[in-house]
Amino acid sequence: MSGADGDEERWIRGQTVWQAWMRAALNRGRPPHAVAWYGPPGGAADRLALVWARAVVCPAHHVGPADACDVCRRARTGVHPDLAVVAAEGAIGIDAVRELEARALRRPLEADRVVFVILGADAMTVDAQNAVLRILEDPPPATCFCFSAPGPERLLATVRSRLQAFTVRPVARRDVVSFLREQGVDADRAEVIGDAADGSLERALRFAALPPAAGAADAPSVPALVESWLPDPARSLDELELHYRGLRRRAADPAGALAALAWIETARQDLEHHVHPRLALEALAVRLKVREGGGPSWQSS
Ligand SMILES: [Zn+2]
Repeated sequence: MSGADGDEERWIRGQTVWQAWMRAALNRGRPPHAVAWYGPPGGAADRLALVWARAVVCPAHHVGPADACDVCRRARTGVHPDLAVVAAEGAIGIDAVRELEARALRRPLEADRVVFVILGADAMTVDAQNAVLRILEDPPPATCFCFSAPGPERLLATVRSRLQAFTVRPVARRDVVSFLREQGVDADRAEVIGDAADGSLERALRFAALPPAAGAADAPSVPALVESWLPDPARSLDELELHYRGLRRRAADPAGALAALAWIETARQDLEHHVHPRLALEALAVRLKVREGGGPSWQSS
């Protein structure tokens, strides 16, 4: 098995429910016209969408390793004529969907169906979604659509209602830990992150990329905190998130840690919405105000 497939296997470990669903749907011989997997970008949802697409075009309906047969292998490497993958890089506009539409009207060349995969479907513009909707409302008989997206929120309700949708479920702690170990994270740290990742491999990888001793939260004062965070606000928020997620699992004050996590998320959104980093981080630092000479304490309000 090649590295890429091994990687895919790791990402979808623990997602056996959906693989069982895939087998059942394909054995019935009538896969749904449109399926969606919801989960963080670049994670299991994307992989499941691709596994499903391959399984539909493979005559043996292999669900799993991409090298199960020659068709699966070609589907994985992008040379199967009945499988088209669109991956979001910025917005997905109407032109991309029009191309799919033209293709959808042609008969499949090899497989029983033509499968269209849109990874990051939430990046479709409203026009693009409406164009997809027109296809889904009157689907050519031999087509399947398959989406991945972080969640249903940014899809039009009319599109959502046409989808058979699944949410990627949290990964068991032991699977998070073994995933990290396979990524070369040392055992102690994998255990710590396993607690803090809350069942998300994406989050676990984000935490694993942080330097081992994240000391930002121990800075002595609000201004010192802000100064220590400013050089790399996004990374600092990741460090804080790791700290408080770990604390929430271990601590006597899980509610306080939960509040801290909500404030961190607010700061992250402020930054995304172009609030000045100093202002966003200051607001966070004040909330996570530091006890004299000690660690952070909770804002009482
Ligand atoms: Zn196959």
